[in-house]
Amino acid sequence: MATESVTRKTDIGPPHYQKYLPPVIKKNYGKWKFHEVLKPGVLMHVAESGDKLYSVRAAAPRLTSTKTIRLFAEIADKFCGGFLRYTSRNNIEFLLTDEQQVAPLVERLKKEGYPVGGMGPSITNIVHTQGWVHCHSAASDASGVVKSVMDELFPHFEKMDLPGKLRIAFACCLNMCGAVHCSDIAILALHRLPPKINKEALPKMCEIPTTVASCPTGAIRPKMIDGKQTVEVIEEQCMYCANCFTVCPAMTLADAENDGLSIWVGGKVSNARHEPMFSKLAIPFIPNNPPRWPEVVAAVKNIVDVYARNASKYERMGEWIERVGWPRFFQLTGIEFTKYHIDDFKHAGETYKRSAQLKHTPAEG
Ligand code: SF4
Ligand code: SF4
Repeated sequence: MATESVTRKTDIGPPHYQKYLPPVIKKNYGKWKFHEVLKPGVLMHVAESGDKLYSVRAAAPRLTSTKTIRLFAEIADKFCGGFLRYTSRNNIEFLLTDEQQVAPLVERLKKEGYPVGGMGPSITNIVHTQGWVHCHSAASDASGVVKSVMDELFPHFEKMDLPGKLRIAFACCLNMCGAVHCSDIAILALHRLPPKINKEALPKMCEIPTTVASCPTGAIRPKMIDGKQTVEVIEEQCMYCANCFTVCPAMTLADAENDGLSIWVGGKVSNARHEPMFSKLAIPFIPNNPPRWPEVVAAVKNIVDVYARNASKYERMGEWIERVGWPRFFQLTGIEFTKYHIDDFKHAGETYKRSAQLKHTPAEG
């Protein structure tokens, strides 16, 4: 079992995770025998020692008020000795060892309006980014789209009625804080035009060298206009990432007409059966349509429904598409195939090792 180093000195970052592990996890660290989902939202881990740990998963909003956090803390104190955790998709999980407390805990969560589920062959919380609430480079909202999509897909959270796990992610620009490259369905917002340069504001707000250096593709060049030092953008080199806007607020990308969303499918992180897969483009562009984004909701629901009808048991979205083939995927979903679907990325996409699966080639002779 790993132990916390007494010499670990830091005043940044979170405390060492070992400090907050429930006693049952500390005792059985690295010695778990198996786990199984007992019912939607209730997972049981069994250790070699015979100890059992129950994890009860509830849907939680990503942006949470202090009132809600106090409620979760009170529930954890009452039912599980104060032990809880957040999953990477912002579900909240209560960790307990007393099986008798599982049913009352589930009841209490439901009473408070936090549905229990999101495990096994279901749709769990959608991991998402900041959106218009909190990020300057967002091409769409995050919480708004996710709430609209999840309202439609919610029955799949409480029931384990899908062929396999279905993980959905959302990122509000292609910097992808939401890790959309490896989800079964990914919604990715995008800008489609290069930054507009506010030539009046630029000299007052920005430094030319840092603005030029901020561009990962070298699309920004210094330029003298009317005797004033400013910059220009080589449009063909711009990938609309908004990095320059982070450094120089006089280079705005937000555009009500041209910002929107794309949908990607078939990614996964898991090494089970098939090595991890990157998501691939399904729908290149859907315009922003707040407050409920009905076109995005309908597109995601359609893909989920087609997958649910056609995939085999345990098959993830990407495994199913690989089995039936991309032409069949487009045929079944009715999604139009366009020139934007042709993957002309020339670099190491196919050759990077993406998994922990290793192939052993025995030495000859
Ligand atoms: Fe900001 Fe882009 Fe991250 Fe969204 S995905 S929070 S816009 S950096
Ligand atoms: Fe460069 Fe990105 Fe700005 Fe385009 S949006 S100019 S690629 S930093």
